Amino acid sequence: MTETGSERRPDHEVVIIGAGVCGIYMLYRMLEFGVDVTVLEKGDGVGGTWYWNRYPGARFDSESYSYGYSFSKEVLEEWNWSEHFAAQPETLRYLNFVVDKYDLSRHMQFGCALEAAVFDDEADCWALTLQDGRTLTTRFLLTAVGMLSAATMPRIQGVETFEGESFHTYYWPQEPVNLEGKKVGIIGTGATAVQVIGEIADKVGELTVFQRRPNWCAPLHNGPIDDETQARIKASYDAIFERCRETPGGFLHGPDRREFLEVPEEERLAFWEELYASPGFGVWLGNFRDVLVDPHANAEYSKFIAAKIRDRVDDPIIAEKLIPKDHGFGSRRVPMETNYYEAYNRPNVHLVDVNDTPIERITPAGIETSEREYEFDVIIYATGFDAITGAFDRIDITGVDGQTLRDKWRDGPITYLGLQITGFPNLLTLAGPQSGSVTTNFPRGIEEAVDWTTALLTYLREHDHTRIEATQAAEDEWTQHVKDLFDGSLLATAESWFTGYNSNVDGHDKLRYMVYMGGAPKFRERLAEVVNNGYEGFDIR
Ligand code: NAP
Repeated sequence: MTETGSERRPDHEVVIIGAGVCGIYMLYRMLEFGVDVTVLEKGDGVGGTWYWNRYPGARFDSESYSYGYSFSKEVLEEWNWSEHFAAQPETLRYLNFVVDKYDLSRHMQFGCALEAAVFDDEADCWALTLQDGRTLTTRFLLTAVGMLSAATMPRIQGVETFEGESFHTYYWPQEPVNLEGKKVGIIGTGATAVQVIGEIADKVGELTVFQRRPNWCAPLHNGPIDDETQARIKASYDAIFERCRETPGGFLHGPDRREFLEVPEEERLAFWEELYASPGFGVWLGNFRDVLVDPHANAEYSKFIAAKIRDRVDDPIIAEKLIPKDHGFGSRRVPMETNYYEAYNRPNVHLVDVNDTPIERITPAGIETSEREYEFDVIIYATGFDAITGAFDRIDITGVDGQTLRDKWRDGPITYLGLQITGFPNLLTLAGPQSGSVTTNFPRGIEEAVDWTTALLTYLREHDHTRIEATQAAEDEWTQHVKDLFDGSLLATAESWFTGYNSNVDGHDKLRYMVYMGGAPKFRERLAEVVNNGYEGFDIR
């Protein structure tokens, strides 16, 4: 804190936490706006999700050209995506390209984890303590901490005793890991594991998959982008982003306006075949509009996908094990796969259902189930994340009257617009729980949040305000609205990170209202309405 006459000024006007997709763009806008800003990033480089997740097979499930930033015509013109669904190394190169182009890393501090943030009620600013002991103050604290950045290990005894190599997929080493000919065990069958398994099945010696609940997976149909297609993509960026603005998920794929029962069976099946054969999320998000709402329509579609799994997996017993029975297609986020089901046709790939033979412990040699011990050279933990709120819970954030965010969110997040929290003035949670960003094609969602926040900060500066906080009434209304949107959605019926479940975190064994289910266009409308009504729902001073 510096003194200027009687006025106490914080060290920075804005501090952004995280240099991933969201933090990079927020920084760009803040610099454009001429704000004194710094980014604190835990990793040693930019990229967030794409910096950490270096596991084999990591790649987009959004079309590459629908994922890149839309804000810079130059970047759109200069960057060539090599595949329709780019792999992690390419995405990390892309983010570095953007950062270098706009010389953003000068304003970033790496290897710099935020440990605590305390709001100073008198000075209207946040006092931050970093893990290395440094302290600094900022008027506004902007979190771009990622939705899936707090990795969780399974609660299985003996993890530390294993004598081979083992990794959580999020912390996959930067240097190449040689899996060739190795005996590998993998725990988990979520979107991450599905990518890993498809990628390594034909490279390792033996691969044993420990599955608790199968997911409905569908083919990604990735492919290279040739020069002609590249030119076509570049010529149609306006239309691509316009399409993404229209769809609920911010993807190129939006629901078909027809209802399941309106369409004769033959036509319906032909349409589903088309979806299954087409690249990307169409198979999930491009369906008849009632398939993710009406249980009967959903059951019929699930039957169709189950038949595909039976077709692709040779052993009928394994096929049955890979077909979810506890939730319908699309009610959990659909993992997009390449060669996933075919992997189980290989003689070196084995499936262990931990419901039949539970894992009892990790041993120095491998994994012991109730039936036997499996010996491994490598164990891969693809066991997911303390999603959305986990990254916040790992920082000591204290608002007015000593209230901690961890305590406030103990039973689930409570927010206004997913962007602000009563009792935590000047904290803006850019991709926070209950915001529109967390259920969308991420860059499309965060561009919205960043632009809105930039306009807000401009307004505050122009009006000499130093403090903004959601009113209690606005927070109550929004949190109730988020809950209400869960009613009638099949997504709310499945236990997954979308609905706040994680068996490896205390207290996360119940439904938590984590995400805004209204869709990106409605969220955008609401944000605009708030501005048009003079930032209604905020106490601004
Ligand atoms: P996840 O979907 O939460 O999957 C975690 C897996 O670990 C589940 O199969 C879970 O089983 C299993 N598991 C956890 N603890 C276990 C235990 N103690 N014993 C046995 N199994 C256990 O996590 P994820 O696969 O990392 O994916 C998370 C999200 O990341 C995805 O939904 C997606 O949004 C994103 N993602 C995106 C991409 C992409 O863009 N292409 C790729 C990968 C991931 P249960 O289901 O029984 O809990």
